[in-house]
Amino acid sequence: MLKIPYNLEEILMNSPQTISMTTTTTEDQKVTLKPIIEMKDLTKVFYTQEIETHALRGVNLSINEQDYISISGPSGCGKSTLLSLLGLLDSPTTGKYFINGQDVSDLTVNHRAEIRNQHIGFVFQAFNLIDEISVFDNVALPLRYREPIMSESEIKTKVLASLEKVEMSHRTGHKPNQLSGGQQQRIAIARALVGEPTILLVDEPTGNLDSKNGDAVMDMLAKLNESGVTICMVTHDSRYADMAKRQLHLLDGVIADEFQQ
Ligand code: ADP
Ligand code: MG
Repeated sequence: MLKIPYNLEEILMNSPQTISMTTTTTEDQKVTLKPIIEMKDLTKVFYTQEIETHALRGVNLSINEQDYISISGPSGCGKSTLLSLLGLLDSPTTGKYFINGQDVSDLTVNHRAEIRNQHIGFVFQAFNLIDEISVFDNVALPLRYREPIMSESEIKTKVLASLEKVEMSHRTGHKPNQLSGGQQQRIAIARALVGEPTILLVDEPTGNLDSKNGDAVMDMLAKLNESGVTICMVTHDSRYADMAKRQLHLLDGVIADEFQQ
């Protein structure tokens, strides 16, 4: 929505040119959202004994900042493979992959991990939280692996801001197993966001949740996207896939269809 500065009247009276620039800036922002992810003719072949499995057969995908994408399709169509390539957990067989214009198609394992830490936040079906440590320390974990080392006060600021985003600031001292499934998934989302990733990759976020908690987590993802977080989610659930702004349908290793809201 267009935010009108409090001194609008003054601007209007003094300089009509300035106001026309202000309004077009908002329009421009919509048009010029940057592509942060680009995949060109990406393929992935798995070789096991004598069998070749062509899991991805030429994926072309461009993701802009603030996109909310869902990927769905039948079992075996390549969803997990695509997500692990997007998340730099694996490298493609052929094709090109760029993050923020940087070619990341063919990196060493160590370099890939470095770029992954910087750009990717993961949320999995199983929340993968550590029950022995507090919510605060779970969310702080990715920051403690950062180089250069971050000060405790900087970590605290970032952890609390991230918990705030998922409306869980009131549970910093709890252990994950003292929380409901939906709350645990929100903590996992806070952990994924704490390093301010370029994109949040989400794999079946509601798979381990009942429908009430599943709905709450999906509402949270929608809210985060509205606040500017770029999301790419894999889901079997067509009701949830439809909540994304762009819905990709994967079939036999290619993007067969795309629907936009
Ligand atoms: P989905 O997540 O859509 O169910 P996957 O991406 O897991 O599909 O798998 C796509 C295809 O690639 C399937 O035929 C699967 O058996 C195969 N595949 C996935 N991972 C491997 C692997 N590590 N080694 C061999 N084949 C694999
Ligand atoms: Mg899968």
